[in-house]
Amino acid sequence: DKVYLNGSIVNPADAKVSVFDRGFIFGDGLYEVMVQINGKFFYEKEHLDRLKSGLLKINIDFDVSLLSNEITTLLKVAELTDKDCMLYIQITRGVAPRQHSFPNDIKPTVMMYAVPKLLPEINTTNAHVITRSDFRWSRCDIKMTSLLGNVMLNEEAMQHECYETILHRNGVFTEASHCNVFFVKNGVVYTHPADEYILNGITRIVVIELCHALDIEIKETPISLQEIDTVDEAFLTGTSTQIAAIQKIDNHLLFTENKKGPVTQKLQEAFLKLK
Ligand code: PLP
Repeated sequence: DKVYLNGSIVNPADAKVSVFDRGFIFGDGLYEVMVQINGKFFYEKEHLDRLKSGLLKINIDFDVSLLSNEITTLLKVAELTDKDCMLYIQITRGVAPRQHSFPNDIKPTVMMYAVPKLLPEINTTNAHVITRSDFRWSRCDIKMTSLLGNVMLNEEAMQHECYETILHRNGVFTEASHCNVFFVKNGVVYTHPADEYILNGITRIVVIELCHALDIEIKETPISLQEIDTVDEAFLTGTSTQIAAIQKIDNHLLFTENKKGPVTQKLQEAFLKLK
């Protein structure tokens, strides 16, 4: 186990950050998660571009292009070069006396670690999900480290022995606690548009591209609370989840046993070929 911290690669026990780091005090920072599959990071550019645009949105001055070399070195030291693994990247605003305003010359804290992770070819989870009101803030497009809302909403799913909580706001479904959500109705795929109420998942973008490539009609239009019982299929997307079929939404069973819908199946098979 190795951790990259501000230019050094150290053992986890030696990776020390000040308690006055604004990541710790305010959750003032961003993160990114990507997976290496068959020796190559899956959609690496898209992940790093999202990090770069996130940093710009919250005014943290850090050159993301510096990370590529550091990632290569980290993987080498962690003996994970070419191995299937998950990489976590976190950039917080840095260390300063605790007050909301921050000094101009503050230096970001950069932390990364990689752990072995073997993803299944196709996710065979047939997810049971619950629905809840999305009480998070209105800038869900920012992949910030302060995930208390997501954690609380995910915990409700755990209490109900479910895989995820799918969220609704203003009468429509937005996303889930750590995934994006898609619905299929009369052969058309629906997902919430990439505005400030969802994180624009990289897997979400890939699935939209796959729909176009496979001539499946895709609409970035949300499904409403009233429509939810009339959908034919639903699935979740995310870097670790990949594409997971939804079997049950609250008490509404979409599929029995190990069955899933044809559109979900088709997208899972096409997704597999991208790896
Ligand atoms: N939505 C939320 C709230 C997430 O936390 C995540 C991933 O962590 C996603 C969607 C999926 O994003 P991606 O496909 O880039 O992993």
